[in-house]
Amino acid sequence: MTDLFIILLFGLFMATSFTLIKIGGLFLQKGFKKEVANELDYTHLIIEWIFWIFCFSVFMYFFKGQHQIHKGVLIVIGILFGSILISFGFIVTPLLILLQKRKYTIAIEYQNWARATIDDRIQIRIIQQAQPNAYATGIFSSNKVILLSEALMNNLNEADIKNIIFHEYAHLKNNHLFILYLSNVLCCSISVLSSSYFYPLFESTSYPGLLVALHGALYGVLFIIIPGLVQRQLEFNADKYAAIAVGGSIYGKSLINLNTITNKGLEKKVIHYPHLNDRLKHVSNY
Ligand SMILES: [Zn+2]
Repeated sequence: MTDLFIILLFGLFMATSFTLIKIGGLFLQKGFKKEVANELDYTHLIIEWIFWIFCFSVFMYFFKGQHQIHKGVLIVIGILFGSILISFGFIVTPLLILLQKRKYTIAIEYQNWARATIDDRIQIRIIQQAQPNAYATGIFSSNKVILLSEALMNNLNEADIKNIIFHEYAHLKNNHLFILYLSNVLCCSISVLSSSYFYPLFESTSYPGLLVALHGALYGVLFIIIPGLVQRQLEFNADKYAAIAVGGSIYGKSLINLNTITNKGLEKKVIHYPHLNDRLKHVSNY
């Protein structure tokens, strides 16, 4: 087998595993029903799958040639790869959505309203998505866009949609995506540097199991807990902006309505997203 074949095979295997885990997780979360299968965005999944084949193949290419490459270059590649991996949901996913031009339309009325009342450069688009969702995307001012899903537009009233736009705008105005990405790069840098320190120790220590466990725990803290806590703070910050703009109790009602249309999506106990009750308590201060 040629090297190129092995590299591509690795990329294909990892990308396929990733995609299957993602689809499997969705079914586990929502139940093994036909509606869940119908809701899947297959074009999006295929684009994402090709993206992963590319990423993992490039990773393998450098990994296989690591003895000829300077260690510093390897560390930089490791940091870039890892930081994109943990930032995938908020950097790559919205960009993939925007690449599918057929799939969105400009939310002209809301955009006109937002340009007149919030910021005259604001861009708002409606994406075809069966789940109620809102995203803020773009790091540079020229490509900052707020994406609202069709399901969100159809199920929330006008006032609630405007309040959600305030929240998403705060993410863009305060450069939250950039802050989150930087904190991911920082966590990744610490983990890659710690690995290059730990790996030689694995061979020389008499407690390799303990070292591997400690190293794994450090990875958990760096890849899950710290990015989660940062994202959580940024959510509170965007809520604060919206609450100051429209009033805490009015904004709180929009959060409750959003929770209803997402089947209690705001009541999940996850580290990276504050629980609805904490958000309501927080916004009641404004
Ligand atoms: Zn948010």
